[in-house]
Amino acid sequence: LYNMVQDLKGNIRVYCRIRPAFSAESKNVVDFIGEDGSLFILDPSKTSKDGRKSFQFNRIFGPTAGQDEVYRDTQPLIRSVMDGYNVCIFAYGQTGSGKTHTMSGPSGGTSKDMGINYLALNDLFHMSNEREATIKYDIYVQMVEIYNEQVRDLLAEDKTENKYPLPYTYYYSLEIRSCNDDGLSLPDARMLSVKSTTDVMTLMKFGEVNRAVSSTAINNRSSRSHSVLTVHINGKDITGNSIRSCLHLIDLAGSERVDKSEVTGDRLKEAQYINKSLSCLGDVITALAQKNSHIPYRNSKLTLLLQDSLGGHAKTLMFAHMSPETDSFGETVSTLKFAQRVSTV
Ligand code: ADP
Ligand code: MG
Repeated sequence: LYNMVQDLKGNIRVYCRIRPAFSAESKNVVDFIGEDGSLFILDPSKTSKDGRKSFQFNRIFGPTAGQDEVYRDTQPLIRSVMDGYNVCIFAYGQTGSGKTHTMSGPSGGTSKDMGINYLALNDLFHMSNEREATIKYDIYVQMVEIYNEQVRDLLAEDKTENKYPLPYTYYYSLEIRSCNDDGLSLPDARMLSVKSTTDVMTLMKFGEVNRAVSSTAINNRSSRSHSVLTVHINGKDITGNSIRSCLHLIDLAGSERVDKSEVTGDRLKEAQYINKSLSCLGDVITALAQKNSHIPYRNSKLTLLLQDSLGGHAKTLMFAHMSPETDSFGETVSTLKFAQRVSTV
């Protein structure tokens, strides 16, 4: 039933999430949020009606929407993974717009207000227990980041000394294989079996520590890399039939444009890599939405990595995150335009 409902809605959907304003006094660009997924924003530099822009999404979560409410609309998609569907969930938006809040939860990692990553795995374990009598599921996770078009294993451990966290140099650049026999696009990334949300929390913390180590080497790097948490599901029913699928939970690099006249060197290189990979992602999803015969997966590491989970029977959900403050207006418009381009509504 989950799949039937989902199929009717199409395979690509886009939700918009607006985070609460940082200060109650600050002016807000949000003009109107419609129940039907329409959004109107106002250009703060214009006073007349031409400053009004409208967008259409599958759903909009306003600043008061909590994690549970967001999860409720994501749950059917998560559940379809247990029936063999591949699913990708992306958090898109400028730095500070709420991507990590949606995916992981508030920084600090308390168990309150947990994000989609945690709620999804919790649900998968729950369903696996529910179906135990008919299907036996095994659940594994991998966690990598893509930085400057290099894939690094966030769950890698130092086998020689068993020291955590790992030194920066310990990350390696992983090779992506498409159409591998065992269905793994990252056969060399560490894959760990998880049996409970406690296991997952431990792993996620481990991955975050590994990620944080690299960010001291390069300041605030996490907003400039994509993080990909992949959940692999292997199910076997009593007659011996097997189901294999995966769920990718992706916290994308900040989408903000940097001023080329202001940055140089490594920072400019980073910005160009981010720009390229985000526009490749947009191209791939748009090509899928338009049912083009050629899908340009090979143009970025991210799309290559997700190749088997984008298109075909796979399902994609993108959260377009926006900051409501007037000084983010320019970035907000480009986020909403990007999201509108990949959406089929
Ligand atoms: P990003 O990952 O896009 O850079 P964050 O998720 O780190 O942004 O969000 C920036 C700040 O705003 C954080 O302090 C976060 O806790 C807060 N925040 C983001 N979204 C929400 C929300 N929906 N409700 C409450 N606080 C939020
Ligand atoms: Mg973040």
